[in-house]
Amino acid sequence: PPAIRKISEQYDKVFVTGCLEPQTNGPRANAVLVILARNQELEGVVQSIKSMERHFNRWFHYPYVFLNDGDFNTTFKETILNHTSAPVEFGKIDPTMWGYPDWVNIDTAREGIRKQGDAAIMYGGMESYHHMCRFYSGFFYKHELLQKYDWYWRIEPEIKYFCDITYDPFIHMERANKTYGFTIAVKELKETVPNIFRYASAYKRVNNLTSQGLWEMFAEPASAAEDISLPEDNPKYKKPLPEEILSSEPGQGGVPDVDPEAMEGETYNMCHFWSNFEIARLDWFRSKEYNDFFDMMDRSGGFWMERWGDAPIHSLAAGALLAPQNIHYFRDIGYRHTTIQHCPANAPGNRQLARPPFLEVTTKDEKKRKEEDEYWETWDPVKENGVGCRC
Ligand code: GDP
Ligand code: MN
Repeated sequence: PPAIRKISEQYDKVFVTGCLEPQTNGPRANAVLVILARNQELEGVVQSIKSMERHFNRWFHYPYVFLNDGDFNTTFKETILNHTSAPVEFGKIDPTMWGYPDWVNIDTAREGIRKQGDAAIMYGGMESYHHMCRFYSGFFYKHELLQKYDWYWRIEPEIKYFCDITYDPFIHMERANKTYGFTIAVKELKETVPNIFRYASAYKRVNNLTSQGLWEMFAEPASAAEDISLPEDNPKYKKPLPEEILSSEPGQGGVPDVDPEAMEGETYNMCHFWSNFEIARLDWFRSKEYNDFFDMMDRSGGFWMERWGDAPIHSLAAGALLAPQNIHYFRDIGYRHTTIQHCPANAPGNRQLARPPFLEVTTKDEKKRKEEDEYWETWDPVKENGVGCRC
């Protein structure tokens, strides 16, 4: 077999191969499908629910939790209930989980956001988007409606599943001792996260964490990263986050007690799991380690002074805290959100973006590339991964 197959399968195999009838009467996990949305996104949400029900949940009946920082209106709730027979709960996010905490200097934060808008950074000028990213980074798993669950599957408006998912991904993740599952990895817009890696790297260093093999998915030796490094002549990228973002004094729970400049010659390659699809253990997010990570990142002010997404936050936390064995690449799940998609029948489309250890994607080694192509050419999603997969 090609070397690439060995590399991928050493850590992570496709869970189920062979045409499979939906596993309707197997055991169920303590899991929930989570959708954050606003009333005006109803149409996109309906599209997502239809796809989710058609390709998975009509057999599995996992409950949904809808969350909103505002109130869902009657139309929203009734329409949702018309599209699924699974249990549904609607929840409101209170201000402790959404918006500015009391230790932040709101004027400085707003000024930071305004400047990102002026710089035309994607979503950078939109305050609500910053709040959303921070909520998905450090709070969703603390919401009261999620407390009773061990697993979650994130769903967004305007997504589409291409393939029938005829097995239970939660159960298989549980059995395989997986913590976090993804289907697409992409590169972040670097202007949204100029300082994120300094802090993530500092977290790892101050906690004496050594890589378990996943950190290398995101970290590159500085010398090997010329093509993706931040522009040297752009002082904006070199400047650490300003301390005046914090309303409390340094050393009193304010500025993280780390030197974010000391990065030991590594740079962020901008890779991240695209978190609008995410199947993960909630107890990992609830762990002390994850929350220490979030708190340190949060205290830097990066959720406002930059536009840190929850995707690079989750990914760098995984890089610092998990091993490749704990991650599952759902290469058999066909998924699209707006313009980016992963199609199992055409998986190489994803490989410029996914990174080792899940795919040998960035290699310039011709021999390895050939092996990789061979791997995917012999991999038939319909034959090997159940029914109904057409992208
Ligand atoms: P994109 O996928 O990065 O373009 O961002 P989206 O606009 O899809 O936002 C990501 C998720 O957060 C989606 O589920 C949105 O419905 C949700 N979201 C974004 N902003 C808000 C907000 O201000 N309020 C609520 N309730 N949901 C939001
Ligand atoms: Mn979206």
